[in-house]
Amino acid sequence: MQIIDKKELENGRFTGTLPVRGGPDLPVWMVCGASDGPTLVLTAGVHGCEYVGIMTLRRLFAQLTPAQIRGRVILLPLVNGEGFYTGSKQVVPSDGKNINRVFPPPEEGTPAQEIARTVVEQIYPEADFLLDLHGGDVNEAMTPLVFYPATAAPDVTARACEAAQHLEVMYRIPSTAKNGLYSYAAQCGIPALLMEVGGMGLWSEEQVALELRSIHSLMGYLGMGPAPAKNSRQREAMEMCYAEADTSGLWFPAVQPEQPITAGQTLGRIEDLEGCVLQTVHARWDGMVLYHTVSLGVTTGDALVAFGKIE
Ligand SMILES: [Zn+2]
Repeated sequence: MQIIDKKELENGRFTGTLPVRGGPDLPVWMVCGASDGPTLVLTAGVHGCEYVGIMTLRRLFAQLTPAQIRGRVILLPLVNGEGFYTGSKQVVPSDGKNINRVFPPPEEGTPAQEIARTVVEQIYPEADFLLDLHGGDVNEAMTPLVFYPATAAPDVTARACEAAQHLEVMYRIPSTAKNGLYSYAAQCGIPALLMEVGGMGLWSEEQVALELRSIHSLMGYLGMGPAPAKNSRQREAMEMCYAEADTSGLWFPAVQPEQPITAGQTLGRIEDLEGCVLQTVHARWDGMVLYHTVSLGVTTGDALVAFGKIE
């Protein structure tokens, strides 16, 4: 890992930046434990308006001391700084690309791809485990949950799934994605998770506290701290449905996150400006609403509502 402007704040706590071709460079923080152990990589701000993770890593770095951990924690607190400072949902503004869709990155690429390349080349080789912190975006209301990679090597999937059960979120979703920061890490053999907490451009102390407890629990699971208990209340979504807009219009959700639903129930509708109903979304089966779009204006292909069949 080539850290520039590396500063040791005090014994075992470092700040610096990782160079990104074409810039801006990525802030990187590190806490090196007093004794040997695994390296946990924590990333946040891949999507610039998902604030809970960014606040959590800021808080974690302020609080974590080398004496508390075995091994090492590497924090990337703000992967998409450009998106964060300009309030751009989902993408890096200068190329319009979603970092979580550009893995594996090409040898030479656009700003989002260059960020991804820095992560692949500088961060992946250091990681024994990776947790990427997300939330609902400015337009999404979300139930806290964790995605684990379902299509990695069996041992990687199994380790990630086991680790996920130590996070304090109630829902666990197997994901077939392969082109994001955590999902491509899993394809490369690194057990990795994506946790979603918060949404709608908001963050709260309660959400930060939940995420901090989850990270300490994960560190315990990895042997870096006190052994944690499994979250026995967590449930897996056996099947997911992501309903999309068939047309542009005004979206009126009829449900809330974490609302149980029954087959056939109306989950929301799209109307045109004059009030004619253009699309009605129904539940395919009994399940649980995990998130929905809160934007009034939507366009063809936008995610409207996601629900899962819960074990
Ligand atoms: Zn996100």
